[in-house]
Amino acid sequence: MKNEQPRLTPMFEQYFAIKAEYPDALLFYRMGDFYELFYDDAEIAARELQIALTSRNPNAENPVPMCGVPHHAAESYLNQLLEKGHKVAICDQIEDPKTAKGLVKRAVTIVRTPGTAVEDIGLSPKGHNYLGALFFDAEKGAGGFAWLEYSTGSWSGLYSKKEAELWQWVQKMQPRELLVPDLPAEVFRLPQSLDLSTSIPVRLPVRSAFDRAAAERRILQAQNIRELGAIGLNGKDELVRACGAILSYLERTQKQDLTHLAPFVPLNLSRHLIVDEISERNLEIFRRLDGKKGSGTLLHILDETLTPMGGRLLEERLRHPWREVRTIAESANAVEFFHAHEAKRRALREVLDTVYDLERLSTRITLGRAAPKDFSALGRSLAGLAKVHGALTAVPAGTYAGAEEAEGRTLPPQLFRMYEEWDSLEDLADLLDRALLDALPNTITEGGLFRPGYNAELDELLDLVEHGEGRLQALLAEEQEKTGIPRLKLGYNKVFGYYFEVSKTQVQRLPEHFIRRQTVASGERCVTPALRELEDKMLAASDRRKQLEYRLFQELRGIVAQARSRILFMAGLIAALDFWQGLAECAKKHGWRRPELHDGAEIRIREGRHPVVEAMCGASGFIPNDLRMDDERRMLLITGPNMAGKSTVLRQTAIICLLAQMGAFVPAAEASIGLVDRIFSRVGASDNLAQGQSTFMVEMMETARILRQAGKKSLVILDEIGRGTSTFDGLALAWSVVESLTRREGGIRTLFATHYHELTALEGRLPGVHNMNIAIREWNGEIVFLRRLVPGPSDRSYGIEVAKLAGVPQDVVRRAGEILKMLEQARAGRDRTEAATALQQLLPGLAEPVRKQPALMPEPRKETEHPLAVTLRDLDTDHLTPIKALQLITEWKLLWGGESS
Ligand code: ADP
Repeated sequence: MKNEQPRLTPMFEQYFAIKAEYPDALLFYRMGDFYELFYDDAEIAARELQIALTSRNPNAENPVPMCGVPHHAAESYLNQLLEKGHKVAICDQIEDPKTAKGLVKRAVTIVRTPGTAVEDIGLSPKGHNYLGALFFDAEKGAGGFAWLEYSTGSWSGLYSKKEAELWQWVQKMQPRELLVPDLPAEVFRLPQSLDLSTSIPVRLPVRSAFDRAAAERRILQAQNIRELGAIGLNGKDELVRACGAILSYLERTQKQDLTHLAPFVPLNLSRHLIVDEISERNLEIFRRLDGKKGSGTLLHILDETLTPMGGRLLEERLRHPWREVRTIAESANAVEFFHAHEAKRRALREVLDTVYDLERLSTRITLGRAAPKDFSALGRSLAGLAKVHGALTAVPAGTYAGAEEAEGRTLPPQLFRMYEEWDSLEDLADLLDRALLDALPNTITEGGLFRPGYNAELDELLDLVEHGEGRLQALLAEEQEKTGIPRLKLGYNKVFGYYFEVSKTQVQRLPEHFIRRQTVASGERCVTPALRELEDKMLAASDRRKQLEYRLFQELRGIVAQARSRILFMAGLIAALDFWQGLAECAKKHGWRRPELHDGAEIRIREGRHPVVEAMCGASGFIPNDLRMDDERRMLLITGPNMAGKSTVLRQTAIICLLAQMGAFVPAAEASIGLVDRIFSRVGASDNLAQGQSTFMVEMMETARILRQAGKKSLVILDEIGRGTSTFDGLALAWSVVESLTRREGGIRTLFATHYHELTALEGRLPGVHNMNIAIREWNGEIVFLRRLVPGPSDRSYGIEVAKLAGVPQDVVRRAGEILKMLEQARAGRDRTEAATALQQLLPGLAEPVRKQPALMPEPRKETEHPLAVTLRDLDTDHLTPIKALQLITEWKLLWGGESS
């Protein structure tokens, strides 16, 4: 900021005083009908908004850079700045310029920030926009991360002794702004992995924002409680400090009391299946690997919700699936109900569609930041509640059966409870309907809001305002008659108000009570006392009407704000109903089934599919696969050439577990899932190019994390781990990772896809290792992908065949074949010289003699069962249709039936 003018004008004195308090925000300084920005702020805003940069005092020696946006259009400019990560301090005139003596008093009324948006324009209806805060006390070895959605008032957080774990959660929750203590880098440092394009760090002084005692005071006051234990914050000092920082930031920026916040609910990790951010990304749950949202993600397939609340709940459940059979079953029962009762689901869908965002509408109204149209949207949504209740029409489960049940009137217990607790808020819906006009203006100061009949005083004023024009005409007609000048006209201008006008030739004929006011080319303009009086009355009526409507509107706002807890309660019910019906709709659409859940280790999936891959290749083009893991098969080693479908089968298994634990149906003919506490999904370095993180180091860090964090109930999905380094290094690492996973805690359930088919030798040597491969068939030197998961190891990698399939030129493919042969000779060569010759042929420059082979290859394996025998043993004949049997026999013949097929 340049501040070099010798003498400041009073205006700039005021400007600087205010700006000094908000150095990190762009200051929107209200002048007349504009918000003006000066100096650096102006330069930034002009660039970001593509508006003209001008200057104040253009002739002075030091012109001040300046730009401005019209007050009435400020919202869209503001939003552009917020989207680009800026904060904007709104500095308004806080006294009436007409009555102000000297310079109008101004003050910042709110600081708009990216993480505290409540207007629809800055938010995605079904998405979250979190304000986060992280605090870690390295000396104590404890920290907390809290996040809050200001637009709905919900907030949560977790306490942990591991800083890395907290940062993992930051990456998972992706708060738009992240409040952190402003400490020197040796004490507190943002990790490199923090994605600054999604989360903007905001450094706040520890002493004021993160202070323990102040935090407690703020929390108790905002939540209206006596002690921290009431919201589960007992003994979690660092989480308390993080929460305190959030409240302090809100106080400072929003300048409003925080009573609209819901009670803080700490995230209880032991109740949830934890899917870390990297696994979420690999499984393409919310975003594709290329970072885009929408089509190609699991959420996109899953989302059949119709309300913003339902959409947000779906996102939340997908982020935090459950880990308890009972809780999961409650959700699954409701989904099953809507799945079974088509007509009920359809009826519900029809009415849910009429309910808007109850949570955010209520927030805006409570905060006094609602436009009139928000009130009518709320009114319409509330009117929808009764219809939703109607669509549920119910009798309690177990009371009736037969026809009632067939019609879906016998509700499962949690639905029935909901039905009984229902509050359609008819009182409020009626009030809003009675009060407000259908078409509403954007502002609340100009009247035009209320229906006739709502308020008697207003009706009178409206009559005067509306019929004033008629009375003027009557007065005109009267004067025309009295004066005998039929061409006497009535006019209006801003300076004189209403006037009569006559031509110059007729001015002499006017009686005395006409007072001359102005001479114009067309004639003379005059007023009469009667005209004055009528005009004054009309003006007063119009003013009084605006004031009255403003007051009535504030009253209405107060009544709606009072009902916030009732509205939020109903928003919760609507969200749950919408969530359940959406999952049912999705299950119906794609032929999904309800899975079984249990506490054991077994995961059994019959005809499992990958929902996203299936959507892309069409249901008929996708080959479903069976998979079984249990105590004897904790580690499935899946081999097969590139492109065979290894990743797909891996990911679909993780996705099925995740869906099952959020209480959804799953893309499988049948599934029985032993509860999972954590899912780890990692992709080898070279497979992860899209993320721009194709470094071996990152891959190994991820692997390290899994080896430290995975437990007995976890599910680990490793896809081509160890590829980012030399063959032997990679193989050796993959090998020891497999060993470690099979030994830890009696063997961690793992799906391990690899092209190192050397690893398949581990079956029978390590407990729980079981080989599977994705079948392919060689045919005339080409390979055909069968996409079928079968027992046993794959015989080799088929890399060259895949290259050929991909269109690599013939001569390159042929030469690769030669090189491969020589390499294999070199490796297999018992005779050292033989091996060396083979290698030297290949690499003419190689002087060094070949050293002893690393002892990676195990001794030849003992005879194992033929894959067909394993397949037959596993085959579930209870569910085998004749057609399926025939298909299987054809497949087996193709796979193991000898060369003649
Ligand atoms: P890999 O991991 O073995 O290299 P992928 O799992 O990435 O192979 O699969 C490669 C492609 O094959 C996928 O993009 C998909 O189009 C197709 N695919 C995989 N599995 C199936 C399946 N079960 N049915 C049909 N197509 C499949």
